[in-house]
Amino acid sequence: MTDQEKRPAPLLALVVPCYNEEDALPVTAARLTEKLDGLTAAGLAAAGSFAILVDDGSRDGTWAVICALHAQDARFRGIKLSRNCGHQNALLAGLMTAKDLCEAAISLDADLQDDVDAMDDMLRQYADGCEIVYGVRSDRASDTAFKRSTAHGYYRLMGALGADLVYDHADYRLMSRRALEALAGYGEVNLFLRGIVPMLGFRTGEVRYARAARQQGESKYPLRKMLAFAFEGISSLSVKPIRLITWLGFAIFLVTIGMLAYILVRHFQGFTVDGWTFLAVSVWGLGGLQLLSIGIVGEYIGKIYLETKQRPRYHIETDLH
Ligand code: UDP
Ligand code: MG
Repeated sequence: MTDQEKRPAPLLALVVPCYNEEDALPVTAARLTEKLDGLTAAGLAAAGSFAILVDDGSRDGTWAVICALHAQDARFRGIKLSRNCGHQNALLAGLMTAKDLCEAAISLDADLQDDVDAMDDMLRQYADGCEIVYGVRSDRASDTAFKRSTAHGYYRLMGALGADLVYDHADYRLMSRRALEALAGYGEVNLFLRGIVPMLGFRTGEVRYARAARQQGESKYPLRKMLAFAFEGISSLSVKPIRLITWLGFAIFLVTIGMLAYILVRHFQGFTVDGWTFLAVSVWGLGGLQLLSIGIVGEYIGKIYLETKQRPRYHIETDLH
C-alpha cells in the first residue's frame, strides 16, 4: 500500500476498565497522558484524542481519582457504572461509548501490564487499513507457571469446540469505529469479547509485546473468577458440549447391543444368576437411551440458545455502488 492510500490519523479513544484501581490510576493516567501526547506528536493519532476511564462499581476511591483526573485534564472522560458488572461488561460500556466519539479505540487494563508502546504499531496497522489489531503477548514470563500451562490448554480446548480465539491475546486491542459498530450488533448478555471480536471478520493485524507484572494493587482475577470466566467463554460460544452428550448416549447405546449379545450368551450358557440378564440389559439400554434423549433435547435447547442471542448473521465489508 502506498502512502497516498494510508488512512489519516484517527481520533483515538483509550478505553480503560477500572475496578478498585485507586492505587494504579494516578500512575496509569500520567503514562497515558504522555502516550497520547506522543502519539499525536508522531502523527499517529489526531489531536483531541482522549481516554475513557470506566469505573466498574469500585468500592475504593477510584471514582474520586477519575473525577480529579477529569478536572485536571478534560481528555480524561469518566463513566461510572451503577455497580460492579465485571471486566467484560465494563469494557463493553467503554467501547460502546467510544463508538460514537472516536474513529478508533484501544482497550487496555488499568494496571498497564500491557506495553503502551505497542500502540504505535497498532495505529500504523490501522493506517494500513486494519479494522482490528490484536495485542499479542510474546511471552508469558510474568504469569505463574499454573496460569501459563492452563492458558494454552484452554486455547486448544476452545479451538476444538469451534471457538476462534487469538492465542495469547487478552483484551488489549485496537478496534476501528467500523469494527465497534459491528460489535454493537451482538446483543448477547453473556459476553466473552475475546471470542466475539474474531467473529467480526474484517481486515485484522497483530502486534507482539512483552507483558509486564502488575505494579500497583492486586489482580482482580483470583482463580475462582478465572475459572468462571473460562467456563463463560465455552458456554457462551459453543454448543458442542451438548452434542457430546448425544454422542455419548449413542456410544453407550451401541455398547448395549454388544452387551446384549454377551448377556444372552452367558444366559444360555447358564452362567447367570436368575434375573441378572433382565437387569443388566435394562441398566445399559435405558442408560444409553436416556443420555441419547437428553442430548437430542439439548440440541434444540442449543438452537434456542443461539437464536436468543440474535447475533448479526453477516457484516458487509465492501459495498460498491
Ligand atoms: N476489572 C473490572 N471489573 C472487574 C474486574 C477487573 O473492570 O470486576 C478491570 C481491572 O480494573 C483491570 C482489568 O479489568 O483494569 C483487568 O483486571 P486485572 O488486571 O486484575 O486482571 P489480570 O491482569 O490479573 O488478569
Ligand atoms: Mg492485570
